[in-house]
Amino acid sequence: MSYDIMVIGGGAAGLMAACTAADSGKEVILLEANDSLGKKILSTGNGRCNFTNDYMGEECFRTDSDHQKMKHILESFSKDDTLAFFEKMGVCPKIRFGTGYYPLSMQASQVRDAFCYAIKKRNITVVTNFKCKTITQHASGYKAVSEEGKSFTGTKCIIATGGLAAPKSGSDGAMFHFLKASGFKTKDVVPALVPLKCKENFFKKLQGVRWESQVSYKNAEGRCISNQGELQFTKEGISGIPVFQISRFIAKDLLRKKSCVVQIDLYPDFSQETLQKLLEMRFYEEGWYKTNREALVGLMHDKLIDVILQEAGIPSEQMASSISEGQLRSLIRLCKKFTVTVTDTKGFEFSQTTAGGIDLSSVSSELEYVGYPGLYFAGEILDVDGICGGYNLQWAWASGYMTGRSASDER
Ligand SMILES: Cc1cc2nc3c(=O)[nH]c(=O)nc-3n(C[C@H](O)[C@H](O)[C@H](O)COP(=O)(O)OP(=O)(O)OC[C@H]3O[C@@H](n4cnc5c(N)ncnc54)[C@H](O)[C@@H]3O)c2cc1C
Repeated sequence: MSYDIMVIGGGAAGLMAACTAADSGKEVILLEANDSLGKKILSTGNGRCNFTNDYMGEECFRTDSDHQKMKHILESFSKDDTLAFFEKMGVCPKIRFGTGYYPLSMQASQVRDAFCYAIKKRNITVVTNFKCKTITQHASGYKAVSEEGKSFTGTKCIIATGGLAAPKSGSDGAMFHFLKASGFKTKDVVPALVPLKCKENFFKKLQGVRWESQVSYKNAEGRCISNQGELQFTKEGISGIPVFQISRFIAKDLLRKKSCVVQIDLYPDFSQETLQKLLEMRFYEEGWYKTNREALVGLMHDKLIDVILQEAGIPSEQMASSISEGQLRSLIRLCKKFTVTVTDTKGFEFSQTTAGGIDLSSVSSELEYVGYPGLYFAGEILDVDGICGGYNLQWAWASGYMTGRSASDER
């Protein structure tokens, strides 16, 4: 049987695309590689699903292909549209952690379940355990063939198979590689919202430290990207929200074999002068009965004290009052500009999204691939990535909605 619209990939974008297309009265089939729909949704927001955000600044979304097109898609389906759609599905929203929207139950599983009910309500045919291997043009549209040789056809086809992040959830990148090899225009893919591995040998000593910091990176184009939040030191490098937010720029430069140095301001709320006065007081005035190490207690995490003193070449057990001006300057520099050299990311397995994908300049403003009438792309497979905070799901809902609506248009 041939369907009006065939959606490949039953994640966030595919679910939204299928529901939107079915709302226009179309016969829709949804093909999913896993044995159930929306597996990745379950792990979003630490199992709580941060599904959109009250703040929708332009800087929250990134693309290296067509910024205007990305903006157009996002404006076509706003966060208010997401909230209205969720309310209609029975998911009441709740703002948490600033401006992020979560389901009232704080259970990502309820978002997934609500979509399953929405799919059922619309009589959408769902085929699970269908790992699509190839998609080809067909006399009356498109044909999807699975690894087992099963096939389905659709007059229109929406590809929503995700990026390469968190491959265990089903988005293993096989479809992306098939499309790239078939000549579809793509931007290089790298992990984004990902922890970073660093060269310095002090990380084992810092493992476990969480410290409010401002993390900055100047990319190969000279653009400075920074973010403030709770930095986490791991045994291999750095992690935490501020690192995630800048990681896609570093991953792109690593791919181009650029050297990547990250600057960490360990005291973003202290000016250089304030910090200097504070340290002078601790070392010169109070230092007559304390060692260098003791002078920093109360100002710095224990593990950081040891590493910072070592990096500044300051003996920990020497009397604090005998610290030289040069040593104090080194200490201040390390506090405000602690630099680490990134050697790699932790890879797609540990990333929350993908930077890169199907080039936006090769699709229309309705996300139809130019030269392939009736073939659409939605979600993370496209060259758009968001920062942490519900933005990647907002992109999935918006692009899923756009493709579901335009694929339903009779032209
Ligand atoms: C741990 C984690 C936490 C996250 N938390 C948040 C958050 O709180 N807020 C937020 O906005 N974003 C979050 N994200 C990112 C967000 O989940 C994704 O960007 C979003 O789910 C992408 O939706 P998608 O539909 O494009 O892709 P996916 O959700 O990856 O769905 C793609 C679907 O296609 C299927 N598929 C793949 N290949 C094939 C094939 N060949 N044939 C058939 N089916 C196939 C997959 O099995 C999958 O079900 C998180 C991601 C991770 C990994």
